[in-house]
Amino acid sequence: MVEANKYEAVIGLEIHAQLATNSKLFCGDATRFGAAPNTHISPITMGHPGTLPKTNKKAVEYAIKMGIACESTIEENNYFARKNYFYPDLPKGYQISQHTTPICVGGKVAIQLNGQSSYVQLNRIHLEEDAGKSIHDISPTDTCIDLNRAGTALIEIVTEPCIHSAEEAFQYVTEVRKLVRWLGICDGNMEEGSLRCDANISIRPMGTNTLGTKVEVKNLNSIRNIKKAIEFEIERLTALVEAGETIIQQTRSFDANNDTTFAIRDKEDANDYRYFPDPDLAPFQLTEGYINTIKASIPALPNQLKKEWKNTLGLSDYDIEQITENKEEAAFFSNWIQTTSHYKSVVNWILGPIREYLNETGLTYTQLNTSFIQLNEILNLVESNQLSFANATGKVFKGIVGTNKSALQFAQEQQLIQNNSTDAINQWVEQVLNAHPEKVAAYKNGKKGLMGVFIGEVKKISKGQADPKKTTQILEEKLV
Ligand code: ADP
Ligand code: MG
Repeated sequence: MVEANKYEAVIGLEIHAQLATNSKLFCGDATRFGAAPNTHISPITMGHPGTLPKTNKKAVEYAIKMGIACESTIEENNYFARKNYFYPDLPKGYQISQHTTPICVGGKVAIQLNGQSSYVQLNRIHLEEDAGKSIHDISPTDTCIDLNRAGTALIEIVTEPCIHSAEEAFQYVTEVRKLVRWLGICDGNMEEGSLRCDANISIRPMGTNTLGTKVEVKNLNSIRNIKKAIEFEIERLTALVEAGETIIQQTRSFDANNDTTFAIRDKEDANDYRYFPDPDLAPFQLTEGYINTIKASIPALPNQLKKEWKNTLGLSDYDIEQITENKEEAAFFSNWIQTTSHYKSVVNWILGPIREYLNETGLTYTQLNTSFIQLNEILNLVESNQLSFANATGKVFKGIVGTNKSALQFAQEQQLIQNNSTDAINQWVEQVLNAHPEKVAAYKNGKKGLMGVFIGEVKKISKGQADPKKTTQILEEKLV
């Protein structure tokens, strides 16, 4: 058993996010996921002689958006380089990537770790094209290649080696996924490979500053796997160092069947990729005006909203965290609270019945066809005790959503309005007690559990119109 805190883990993550552009980074081929293999592969994607790539402006815009959201410095002078290597799924024999001038330099991503706010520092965000896919499990003898993905626009988001636990990595990737979705620049779908992560991991004696030799676990395709791979590597590296062995720099892969990693190659001295500026692509300059236009187009980000709502609405951290999970939901909340001051009730409605309804129907917030007037009407009926929460969510909300019916009218028609008048409830209570003299006696002799029976009877004869709170109160008064 290694004593706690003897070593410190050091982790740097490289996240590849596939940009949600309609076409590829340097040509008009579609980027849609799931098309028949090798159907989006123009001569440009294939790198045929004489073809000329042209930079996709939308991809540049998306990269800048991410940079601004992470408070990176946006580089005004940019060019693309060729990174030369041979691999079957790389049709041109080189990948076009930004080399020494990433479009976004530095920056940070805010995360929550064990209830504390902190930051993960970024090294850079750069643009590059994706490779195709080698598929090993279709044929028993051959590797199949699908080049549809080749040339798709990616940003690579690279952190400093500043992460120190699997949990911190988990929070960071969760936050990055939220951010790219919020910005609308990537669908964040890890199963389909729109977001992939390489984790670089090393350990060093606690209290020292030099970096240890790292291993790199490639192509992690779920946040859970990122966490598991890092946990496994920290343990493995610690055991190696404890056993007096030297760690060699390695590229590894994760085996999700047993949550372990295995070596795919030892990384000798850096590969010589023979980088040089791509002669077919003109360097591009960004003006301050252009960058500012993009800045102005970015919606309020979750952290801004969190701060704003925390200061003005008096909601709990948990509620604020929940309501800023998703852009559409946050926008819905933001619009709704312009029309009512029952902020806490609005949160409860969104996190409860509305989410449930959207899950059940598969609708989105923009498709949720109901007005805040209707919703507030329901809310007010509940607040004033005229409608039980159960009937409000189970009957009235479901009954009027998608129609232009008034909540009050609907509740009246369905006889769901609770009668709060003491007179009416008194009468129902009297009626029930008179009908069950033996139960009344038993109650008075100590069978307090009969209270539920009385309440149930009142509910029955009032057809659900008696306010349960008041009913209980009156019953208690009469049964002493
Ligand atoms: P490479 O050239 O092998 O890809 P980079 O220097 O570009 O390495 O770094 C890639 C990622 O690895 C970055 O996120 C960086 O923070 C991280 N990293 C670099 N050295 C270490 C180390 N010794 N331990 C952990 N992470 C590291
Ligand atoms: Mg790397």
